[in-house]
Amino acid sequence: MKTEWLRKTIKDFEPYFVAPIAEKHVINANENYFNVLSIPVVKKELVEALDTFKPQLYPKPMADNLRKAISEYIGCDEDEIICGNGGDEMITYLLNTFLNPGDEIVVHTPTFDMYELTGEVLGATAVKVKDLTGYRRDREGILEAVKKYQPKMTVICNPNNPTGDLLPASFIEEVLKAAENIVFVDEAYMEFAQKESVIGLVKKYPNLVVLRTLSKAFGLAGMRCGYLVAQKDLIEAIAKVKAPYNLNAFTQLFAPIVLKHRDEIFKVRDEIVKERNRLYEELVKIPGLTVYPSCTNFLLVQVQVKHEEIFKALKANDVLVKIYRNSAEIPNGYRISVTTKEVDDILLSVFRKELQ
Ligand code: PMP
Repeated sequence: MKTEWLRKTIKDFEPYFVAPIAEKHVINANENYFNVLSIPVVKKELVEALDTFKPQLYPKPMADNLRKAISEYIGCDEDEIICGNGGDEMITYLLNTFLNPGDEIVVHTPTFDMYELTGEVLGATAVKVKDLTGYRRDREGILEAVKKYQPKMTVICNPNNPTGDLLPASFIEEVLKAAENIVFVDEAYMEFAQKESVIGLVKKYPNLVVLRTLSKAFGLAGMRCGYLVAQKDLIEAIAKVKAPYNLNAFTQLFAPIVLKHRDEIFKVRDEIVKERNRLYEELVKIPGLTVYPSCTNFLLVQVQVKHEEIFKALKANDVLVKIYRNSAEIPNGYRISVTTKEVDDILLSVFRKELQ
C-alpha cells in the first residue's frame, strides 16, 4: 500500500493497544467477571424474547426500546439519549459531530487514550493538563486551560481511567460555566462511584454531553452497548453522523432485559466495590508499592523497585494486568481490574513475594 493513500493524520498514528491474551486470569481491561446470564430470570426473559426475535430485519435506527429502558434507569427523556456499540463508538460519533481539523480539545492526563486518538484521526490536537502528585486532577489547571484556549471540546473522565480519581460534580459545573463549547464527561465507571454524576445537569447545560456504557458494572463488554446523554438538539446532531443501523438487533433486545434486572446486577457491583476496598487495604501494606484510591472497579499501583521481576512473576502466575512499563506518565505502573478474592489473592502473593 502507498502511504500517500492514507489520511494525513494517521500516517504516523499509534493505535490503541489491545494486549494479546494468553493468561488464565485476565484483569487488564476492567471487565466484569460476572455473567448476567447466570441470573435465572435474565436468561428466562432472554430465551422468551428470542421467540419473537427477527434477525432478518434491520434494527431500529434509534434503538427505541433501549432508549426507553435507559431513560427509566437514568431519569432523563428518551430523546436525550443516543445508543451505540459501546462507549468507543459513541466517542467517535461525538468527536465526528463537533471537531474540525485544527480544533483543540482540552483533556487531563493520564486518561483513557481514545479521546486523543479519535481527535488525532480528525486532525484535532489535545491540550493536556497534567494531574497533580498522586494522580489527582489539577482542577485549577483544567479551568485555566478551558478559559485560555476555549477549546472546541473539554473532556473529563469521571471517575478517571486509569487513576480511579473522582471529581465532584460541583467542579464539573464550574467547567460547564467556563466553557463556551462542548464539555464531554465520560462516566463509564460511574456505577462503581455512585456519586457525582452530572447526568442531572443535562437539562441545565446545553453544552454538556455525558457518556455511559453497559460494559463495566453491567458486565456486557462483549455485547457492545454505550450511550450519550445530552439535550435533544445535540442528540439530533450526533444522530446525523451515526451509521443508520449502528446498534445490532440482539443488543437492542437483550440490553433492556439486563437494565430491568439491574438490582440483581448491582449486588455484584457492590461485591466488587467491597473487594476493591479489601485489595486496596492489603496493597497499602506492601512496602515499595504505591496504590492510589479509586472509585472504580480497578486500582492503579506503582512499584519503585523490581518492576521486571514482578512483570515476570505475574506472567508465571497466569495473571494479565495492564502494565505501564516504560510510560513517562505512569512509570512502573500496573492497572488491576478488581474481580474475585481468589484472583486478587494470587496478585497479592506475587507483590508480597517480590517486595516484602
Ligand atoms: N470510557 C472509558 C473511560 C473506558 O475505560 C472505556 C473502556 N475501557 C470506554 C469508555 C469504552 O468502553 P466500551 O466501548 O466498552 O463501552
